[in-house]
Order: sequence, then structure tokens, then C-alpha cells
Amino acid sequence: MPQKVIVIGSGPAGHTAAIYSARAGLSPVLYEGFMAGGVAAGGQLTTTTEVENFPGFPDGITGPELMMKMREQAVKYGTTIYTETIARVDFSKRPFTIFSENDPEKPIEAQTILIATGATARTLPIAGFQDYWQKGISACAVCDGSLPIFRNVPLFVVGGGDSACEEATYLSRFASRVFLVHRRDSLRASQIMQKRVLENPKIEILWNTEVVSAGGNGAKVGEVGLKSTSNASERKAEAGGLFFAIGHKPNTDVFKGQLDTDKDNYIITVPGTTRTSKEGVFACGDVQDKRYRQAITAAGSGCMAALESERWLAENGIH
Ligand code: FAD
Ligand code: NAP
Repeated sequence: MPQKVIVIGSGPAGHTAAIYSARAGLSPVLYEGFMAGGVAAGGQLTTTTEVENFPGFPDGITGPELMMKMREQAVKYGTTIYTETIARVDFSKRPFTIFSENDPEKPIEAQTILIATGATARTLPIAGFQDYWQKGISACAVCDGSLPIFRNVPLFVVGGGDSACEEATYLSRFASRVFLVHRRDSLRASQIMQKRVLENPKIEILWNTEVVSAGGNGAKVGEVGLKSTSNASERKAEAGGLFFAIGHKPNTDVFKGQLDTDKDNYIITVPGTTRTSKEGVFACGDVQDKRYRQAITAAGSGCMAALESERWLAENGIH
């Protein structure tokens, strides 16, 4: 028997979709992934510290704890969770079939699919990247920033959005100095995040600048190459670490050719809904949203996907 609802992905969108589907008596199955897209089950919030803008937690809550609570709630109401990554899908006929990395030949059937695979941090292919990745180059300050190698040394953060500001602020607790390297002359980050950076005496913003290389002693980063975006002049600077905070790539490779996506590979949904180009397949969270990209909006669209799939099942006489 095919499952009525399968949720792929385990961030706020996936777990909210599972909670609603479970409470509707649809016994959803959720594939949470095993380091899918390089991120732990639970999604992007597992890579952050305090979440201060998710309603219901006036004193804030850590990202990992919030995701544990969502998972617990999904299980409590009847979701079955597998710690497996979905490697392949076939949406050409119903019931839909998906295949897990753990058993790539065994089809798993579902009447509806709720895609909530989120997004993954971007990096830049600068000279020296391969030599120093995880040897001083990171894409997650909150995961790696407190490591001893990053203490009392100058650290560089690339980007001008909320992530870059949050990471620069976090790293300023450990570094001798933090340089926020931004390619333009104004930040994209929200006002509150900008204020924290601008008022932090340990952070200096290098405007109109990009990082073009990383060098060191082979074991660890020791310097970065910087280039002005206004006059192309170049210089080297001593660096104990380099953190990328330049946005994300949607986790949609597995759906290539099966669903309509935009030029940046985000899944296209019918405006105001979570419906995709394939009837019966719904997408929620960051995998279809490059505008808001917040935990609460991901959770909200997870709710929408669950309600829309529930109605679709009823309309098609699948009980
Ligand atoms: P994600 O959180 O991206 O999770 C999806 C997960 O699904 C993946 O990580 C993976 O585990 C799993 N998956 C992927 N592919 C597969 C597959 N093929 N098979 C099975 N499983 C798969 N937002 C806020 O509102 N407040 C904050 O304070 C905040 N802080 C942030 C800090 C950082 C450092 C970052 C990077 C983001 C932050 N955000 C914050 C944004 C927020 O984390 C995201 O908007 C939200 O997590 C998106 O949720 P999602 O459910 O769409 O997917
Ligand atoms: P983002 O908003 O997309 O910002 C990415 C930044 O990286 C931009 O400043 C961009 O520059 C820069 N960039 C992109 N490509 C680059 C390249 N090739 N070279 C140099 N710089 C490059 O991404 P984000 O900061 O990760 O935020 C994503 C979402 O998560 C947002 O919605 C954000 O609000 C949310 N978030 C929220 C919190 C919070 O509320 N606590 C914390 C983190 C993230 P340009 O500005 O020039 O395009």
C-alpha cells in the first residue's frame, strides 16, 4: 500500500507539515536525511545558536533545541521518521515513487509528496579553497567559530546579509578582530543586525571588497587575498580563519527534470499556495522561498502544504 503522505526534509517546514498531517490522521512518513546537502537532520537551524524571533519563546531558544522540540511533536502525533536521504524520485505517474540512499533499488510509494528539503550554504571557489577547507575555511561560524584555532586571531567573514552579520558578531567573542568583507557599499542585513555589527568595536567592515584567495602553511589558513571591487587593487592580509556567509543553494538536485524550477533552481509554486508543477506534489520552506527564508515562514508554508495535500487526497477519494 502506498503511503498517503511522505514528507522529504526535516527543517521547520517538514516538521510542521508532518505535525499537521499526523493530527489529520494521515500517518505521515518523514525522511529527515542523513547529512543531506551537508546539513544535519533538523536543517539550517541546527547550525545556529540563539533563535530570538520564533514566537512562543520570549527568552529565545537555541536552534538545535527548537528543532528537537519540533521533531518530538511530529513523532508524538504519529509521524514515522527515517534518518535517510532520498536520492531519487519518479513523479511521472501516481502513486509517486521515491528511493532512499540506504536502499536505492527499493521503490517507496506515496499518494502525495511534501518537499521540504531546504537549502545549503554557498561557498566561493577561491584559490586555496580546496587546500584550506576545514583548515581555517568554514561556512558555519556557529558550528566552528569557538574552536581553539580561531581564538585570538583575525577572522574574515564574507557577505553582507543577516548570516554574515550574525556570524561576525558571534566570532567577535573569540577573535582578536573580525573583518566583514562585503562586495558593495551597503549591507543587505536587517537593521537590527547591521546595528550590532556597526556598534561592535571588534568588527571592521571592508566595503567594496572581495576575498580572492586563501594561503597558509599547509596545515591552516594564515592569510587571505583581498581585491577591491571599485578599483581592482589587491592586497594580502593576515587571517586566522575565513567564513563564508553568502547565502544558500536550494536542495533540489534530486528533483531535477521532475518539477519546474526557477533560474536559481528553487521549486516554483503557484503563488499563494504550495502546489508545484506536478499535481499531488507540494513544496514548502526555503526550497521554494528565496524571499523570506525564515523559520516561521518555513513552518507556515509547511502547514499550508499539509492542509493542501489533505484536501487533495479528499478530493481524489483517497482516505
Ligand atoms: P532547512 O532548515 O533547510 O532543512 C531542510 C533539511 O531537510 C536539510 O537540512 C536536510 O537535513 C533535509 N534534507 C535535504 N535534502 C534531503 C533529501 N534529499 N532527503 C531527506 N532529507 C533531506 N531563521 C529565523 O527565523 N530565525 C533565525 O534566528 C535564523 N537564524 C539562522 C541562522 C543561520 C546560520 C542560518 C543558515 C539560517 C537562519 N535562519 C533563521 C533561517 C532558517 O534556518 C531557515 O529559513 C529555515 O531553517 C528553513 O527551513 P526549511 O524547513 O525550509 O529547511
Ligand atoms: P542573503 O540574505 O542572501 O545574503 C547573502 C550575502 O552574500 C549578500 O550580502 C550578498 O551580496 C553576498 N554574496 C552573495 N554571493 C556573493 C559572492 N559571490 N561574492 C561575495 N558576496 C556574495 O543570505 P543570508 O545572509 O544567509 O540570509 C538568508 C536568509 O536567512 C535571510 O532571509 C535572512 O534574513 C535569514 N537569516 C536570519 C537571521 C536572523 O534573523 N537571526 C540570521 C541569519 C539569516 P549582495 O548583498 O551584494 O547581494
